Amino acid sequence: MLASSRSALASARQCRQMSHASNKLSGQVAVLTGSTDGIGLAIAKRMGQEGARVVVSSRRSHNVERAVQEMHDLGLKDVLGVQCNVGKPEDRHNLIDQAVCKWGGVDILVTNAAVNPATGWLLDCSESVWDKLFDINVKSTWALTKLVAPHMQKKKKGSIIYVSSVAGFGGIVPNAAMSGYIVSKTCLLSMSKMVAQQLASDNVRVNCLLPGLFKTRFGEVLHADNEISKFMLPTIPMRRFGEPDEIAGMAAFLASDDASYITGENFAVAGGMQTRL
Ligand code: NAP
Repeated sequence: MLASSRSALASARQCRQMSHASNKLSGQVAVLTGSTDGIGLAIAKRMGQEGARVVVSSRRSHNVERAVQEMHDLGLKDVLGVQCNVGKPEDRHNLIDQAVCKWGGVDILVTNAAVNPATGWLLDCSESVWDKLFDINVKSTWALTKLVAPHMQKKKKGSIIYVSSVAGFGGIVPNAAMSGYIVSKTCLLSMSKMVAQQLASDNVRVNCLLPGLFKTRFGEVLHADNEISKFMLPTIPMRRFGEPDEIAGMAAFLASDDASYITGENFAVAGGMQTRL
């Protein structure tokens, strides 16, 4: 595609995003992990457009700086960039401390960072790969929830969103390639329900977002390879991969008062893919 048509498409998409925004997160402080690219960045932008003050973060400082600049370019000024590898306890503490120090609390947490370090069947997974999958995809989500929950409980309000995957339901995607990753994503489905029960009486809501197949760097192995893509597309009733901004609206909705009576639920955004256990 020509560079000019690509930039025309990008600006049309940006206009569409802006036209959907309705300031529903005005004054809220949103902290997002893995939010310098793909789905996380799209959610960060949308939450900023909805009026939230946004903390974007990821492992690499140059990615953090680029993401902050992209947010500024959209006219979003209340943006803080923090380098955070969610696998490191000191980085997790620093992420939440910086948000609290700058804006006095955290109202929204989106745990989006995840890895899939190796492919193969579950019983062929090495212990080090297993540990990495569970440290990054599961333990960091639990640990960050523990860090933000007291701030939200004090305010008697908060929204926590875990980013899982339709793969967490165990079907459709080529399981042999991703089975350890799939188990880690299934854990988030039950973690959101357990934490939701614990925090419900303090008006802190916890929900899970389940992307289908999206055009991101992480999803490249499925959408960029013609052979795999030919196999995957028929599993998507809408017959196309999602664009990251197509999931951002659901995250903004779940974070907002429009979802004030919704907690402990799993929401797939997947172009109609089968999403039952
Ligand atoms: P992506 O485009 O590759 O972006 C991943 C982001 O996470 C980047 O900002 C990356 O930045 C950051 N990151 C990676 N490891 C990190 C770590 N240890 N600590 C902190 N940040 C880290 O990925 P994506 O496709 O948007 O995926 C986002 C989420 O959606 C993941 O939870 C993924 O499992 C889920 N998901 C994606 C798809 C899909 O089709 N794309 C489908 C189902 C579920 P740095 O490199 O700077 O750290």
